[in-house]
Amino acid sequence: MPKDRRERDTLDSPLLSMVIPVYEEQENLPELYRRLSVVASELLCDVEFVFVNDGSQDLTAAILEEYARTDHRLRAFTLSRNFGHQAAVTAGLEAARGQVVVVLDGDLQDPPEVIPLLMERWREGYNVVYAVRTKRKENWFKRAGYFCFYRVLKQISDTPMPLDTGDFCLMDRRVVDVMNSMPERARFVRGLRAFAGFRQIGVTYEREARYAGVPKYTFRRLLALALEGVVNFSTVPLRAVGWLSVMLCSLSVVLTITQIGLAIAGVPVAAVWLIATLLVLLAGLQIGAVAVVGAYVAKIFAEVKQRPTYILDEVAQPSRTTPRVTSSV
Ligand code: UDP
Ligand code: MG
Repeated sequence: MPKDRRERDTLDSPLLSMVIPVYEEQENLPELYRRLSVVASELLCDVEFVFVNDGSQDLTAAILEEYARTDHRLRAFTLSRNFGHQAAVTAGLEAARGQVVVVLDGDLQDPPEVIPLLMERWREGYNVVYAVRTKRKENWFKRAGYFCFYRVLKQISDTPMPLDTGDFCLMDRRVVDVMNSMPERARFVRGLRAFAGFRQIGVTYEREARYAGVPKYTFRRLLALALEGVVNFSTVPLRAVGWLSVMLCSLSVVLTITQIGLAIAGVPVAAVWLIATLLVLLAGLQIGAVAVVGAYVAKIFAEVKQRPTYILDEVAQPSRTTPRVTSSV
């Protein structure tokens, strides 16, 4: 039985933190709070609600303030301006005090009723239980975009990433501590969670449509998030540039050999081919030089991010009470 599982059995009533980033969700908050409260009352554990108000201009701050006044389980952190979803989740993870932390959106696209299922898997000994979307109730363009993005990222990422999985998940304290200890500022939270490792498992759910209001992730912001994922977790684009250089240089060699062959055979070769070959060679060398500089930049980037080289899970070693094995004759 894993060590975490043994600890969990003795942990009767862990504190569960629900981290909820909200940006201008005034229409969603009453229903969200109602459903969260129902789920919290059914869970066999203590619960705290950690709302992060990401610089909303509407009544979000006032509503949260009102809830915090009457509900001792609720804390609401208002950021000084809109810093973006990933920054808000990061703030929530740092503020959460629970042994178990669940992250969910504030627009009810991530149904709170899934949380007991996540807790069940946690009690079985998993450190991360991420919610996998089987269906999405969004327009076909967005669905197709997400579908392609997750598949491309899985292929090119240096860290194994599960498919169709966003930030809706449960993480235990060990994982949250690892994530909070990683100082990188451009944060792709689901990537960092995958990087943390430990025992991870998915639970499927149907992603709801937004309960009310409009999505705050515009197309441009979604594209920026996708780019964040690729740049922070993959060196494939850089390697592709290197391969382009190799291909162009190889092509110039083939062109040169062909022209020498033709010249030996007495076939006249037009000067334009010579110029084309030189151009291909030059382009190949220039792109190669960029790739070499890029490789060093990638190394610097990796060092600057200061991710740990490894993360320790358990150590098996003789306990102090184990008698020493001595040889007797
Ligand atoms: N959000 C946030 N800051 C932002 C944008 C969004 O905290 O700058 C919150 C938002 O209130 C919601 C969650 O992040 O709770 C997901 O945002 P949204 O529903 O707009 O994204 P989508 O579900 O369309 O990807
Ligand atoms: Mg949403």
